[in-house]
Amino acid sequence: MEDNSTILRKIRAAGVVGAGGAGFPTYKKLDARVEQIIANGAECEPMMYKDREVMLQEKELLLEGLSIMQQLTGARRVTIAVKRKNSDVAALLRPDAEKLGFDLFIMEDVYPAGDEYVLVYEITGRQIPPGGLPLHVGAIVNNVETIVNIARAVRGDAVTDKYVTITGAVGEAMTVRIPVGTRFSDLLALAGGTTLNRPVVFTGGIMMGGVENDLALPVVKTNGGLIFLPADHPVAVRKLTPPAQYQRIGHSCCDQCTLCTELCPRYLLGYPIQPHKVMRSLLMTGSEKERYSLWAAYCCECNICSLFSCPEKLDPKNICVDAKKLLREKQISRTTEELKELFLDVHPVRSSREIPITMLYQRLGIKPYDRKAHFRELNFAPAEVELPLQQHIGAPAVPVIKSGDRVVKGQVIAEVAEEKLGCPVHASISGIVAAVSEKSIVIKG
Ligand code: SF4
Ligand code: SF4
Repeated sequence: MEDNSTILRKIRAAGVVGAGGAGFPTYKKLDARVEQIIANGAECEPMMYKDREVMLQEKELLLEGLSIMQQLTGARRVTIAVKRKNSDVAALLRPDAEKLGFDLFIMEDVYPAGDEYVLVYEITGRQIPPGGLPLHVGAIVNNVETIVNIARAVRGDAVTDKYVTITGAVGEAMTVRIPVGTRFSDLLALAGGTTLNRPVVFTGGIMMGGVENDLALPVVKTNGGLIFLPADHPVAVRKLTPPAQYQRIGHSCCDQCTLCTELCPRYLLGYPIQPHKVMRSLLMTGSEKERYSLWAAYCCECNICSLFSCPEKLDPKNICVDAKKLLREKQISRTTEELKELFLDVHPVRSSREIPITMLYQRLGIKPYDRKAHFRELNFAPAEVELPLQQHIGAPAVPVIKSGDRVVKGQVIAEVAEEKLGCPVHASISGIVAAVSEKSIVIKG
């Protein structure tokens, strides 16, 4: 195999970023020595099939990508994490994985099993320090699609396509591999359209994803799925509630029952997070508001507190998001000494407070929309794609083509300077560049 610096250069040049949602450039993450690699196939968001189908369709590339990661990082242990509901996938992977010395780890069907902090604790028994990374306890966690893209990059293929689950109120739920930049409306048509008058689309999951009304938006490298639901579905309504409204209601209605804290997965792992105390910050101003906002610092925005725990249907998750914004603006954090005192042992009843996925479906009211979204080989070629220049954490890519240029699939169309954190963007279809702006490039096929 090639030397490590050549491999890292190839991974950057191919535009590989975290496909599980964050979009952190993968070459940077892999430039480290660790003991443990974890392939995150836990996929705990309801209704999503993307990671399951990636593991089924791309077994060879997944194992190849893990071997590459092992060479780069010197890891002695490699573990593929799969949910119990996907035991058939684990059975398919196990023989070849074990030949390479890799383990399979079966996770219970609970939410949020795919959170890095949860995954690392379940597999290594170690707690990532507050504000830290898996790297701080000798681990690297990558989504299974990212690992497949690493293998493709080393073979010389750029990230031009991605797996996406299309589900909810659509004609036929499915998971497909489509060019990055395909518009939501094209994917909706691919799945047989919808009978809804006013659909909204959850991008990246019901729990942690955003809600969009605009179906002209494109799929980016970090999107795992599109879930179409009615605009008046209670979860959509809650997610689209403006800040002034959820803050006003939270201010007047929180009775400090503490249920949001008692079921918070990060609190149960011993982290200094207590959303019921963050709710108190709504009653305060100045330094007192800042002091109570500190209890939000390690919130992973899993939404359990808002969409599952709170009996009053308040929004502690968004209050935590606002509190974290305040902390960033004021550059406030706890000292290491303070954290030492606040960091607790794992809660003794943690496992009995995990949220079974079936109970979550019930609470969210999404059971009527739950469909199996297995892989369909469609070789879909959209007439047009829009490729945003910032699909990753770091500096945005800068266009290196202009309107009217002819491009071929896989060609670099936007670059990030070598010394900056970031990745290039590639044409995901062959065609003519129809528009170039500060934010994106449109290609007509
Ligand atoms: S669960 Fe709801 S009512 Fe209870 S403390 Fe948390 S935000 Fe307040
Ligand atoms: S969203 Fe709520 S439950 Fe999830 S980590 Fe944050 S405070 Fe805890």
